[in-house]
Amino acid sequence: MNAIWTYQGKCLNKRRRHRMLLLCIFMITALLWLTWKTLYPSVFAVANTDPPGLASAEARTIPDPDHISTPAIPEPNLILTWTITEGDTLCAIFEHYEISHSVMYQILSADESLLALDVIRPGHLLTFTLDQETRELLSMELFIHPGKRVIYKRADDGSFDYDEITIPGEWKEELLNGDISSSFYVSARNAGLTDQETGNITDLFRDQIQFARDMRSGDRFEVVRSRQFVDGEFTGQSRVEGIRIFRGKRMSSAFLWDDGNYYDLNGNSLSRAFRRYPMAGHYRVASHFSPARLHPITRRIAPHNGVDFAMSSGTPILSTGDGVVTRVSNHPFAGKYIEIQHGSHFTTRYLHLTRILVRRGQTVQRGERIALSGNTGRSTGPHLHFELHVNGRPVNPLTAKIPMASAVPNEKRVYFNQRVGELVAMMEEPSRKIALHRVDGHFSKLPSCF
Ligand SMILES: [Zn+2]
Repeated sequence: MNAIWTYQGKCLNKRRRHRMLLLCIFMITALLWLTWKTLYPSVFAVANTDPPGLASAEARTIPDPDHISTPAIPEPNLILTWTITEGDTLCAIFEHYEISHSVMYQILSADESLLALDVIRPGHLLTFTLDQETRELLSMELFIHPGKRVIYKRADDGSFDYDEITIPGEWKEELLNGDISSSFYVSARNAGLTDQETGNITDLFRDQIQFARDMRSGDRFEVVRSRQFVDGEFTGQSRVEGIRIFRGKRMSSAFLWDDGNYYDLNGNSLSRAFRRYPMAGHYRVASHFSPARLHPITRRIAPHNGVDFAMSSGTPILSTGDGVVTRVSNHPFAGKYIEIQHGSHFTTRYLHLTRILVRRGQTVQRGERIALSGNTGRSTGPHLHFELHVNGRPVNPLTAKIPMASAVPNEKRVYFNQRVGELVAMMEEPSRKIALHRVDGHFSKLPSCF
């Protein structure tokens, strides 16, 4: 039998066989060429030369390497980002990236006046920028939320400085309201309030309402809350602007004023007054609050975010206001220290203590003894470093506006009443709309004015 090729089951004659062979060779060659071009596009790019006179502008600007020495392109820095999870410590993260402890201490030294790295929390990001070749740490960024980050940068003398970057963003107000079914806590959560916001509200009305006992089914609340957004992203920061709680025919209210304090409808303060000084008696100010102070030990200019009172070790330290202890820590430079949160806007810190008398999470009263002063951490002598923060920013504790007055001052009453009017209008508008659609008449029984 003659050698034959079969094609779709048909025998082909010699001439047709020849034509088929040529076609096959052509197709295989084309296939090979296409495969090669796909796999090695750069070879074709290099080979692709423009015809004379049509050279691209880019090609014409390339200098002749024989005549001009082109500057060496610096190696890009090595950037490493770590997302903080539960149980992470700064020390372990530095070890993981093989960055020495001495560098970590240099950064902690820079952080002494901020203490931002003492509370790294899940969700925070740490971004390290290292020299590609030497692996020297050039900078480290702590990302707290889209509106706040801190950058620790290596200075000319080899130590670190920090830049705190805060973006005000946009605060959007919203109304959250609800009826009490089982408890205020459950209803507040169902309305969308966080546990912290609910805690702040119950704390604010603690002298007026026993929430667990006094709130009954059918009572209701209205809260105007504002939340911070940066580039449309929620930063996790929020504040309660105004609250009205209706219990039967009684109404309790609180409205935030520009001094960070809450006042009722008549302008009377809901917070108890603060003490100006965290100790009994008079002590000399050894170093004042200053945005740029020459540090007595490091000899570097750095912010001094508090005031130093010279006092012998063991002097009783008192909380300047009612609050909750949020930090009890021992920092290599700040020493033993305490932080207390007073409501949602004020925080105080007490540094270089010798003995701490409270624990984290503990509720403290204004004037309560919380510690004994000392000389721990980096300190030139026994003293108390005291800080006051308003809305997360350190302020001069000796001159700051603190809730010492019991009412909105008369000259501010017009503006305060205006703000109350805005918040109440926001609270009442949706209520009216809802009332039109309710058939049980519950809302219609509410007082139409206060
Ligand atoms: Zn100090």
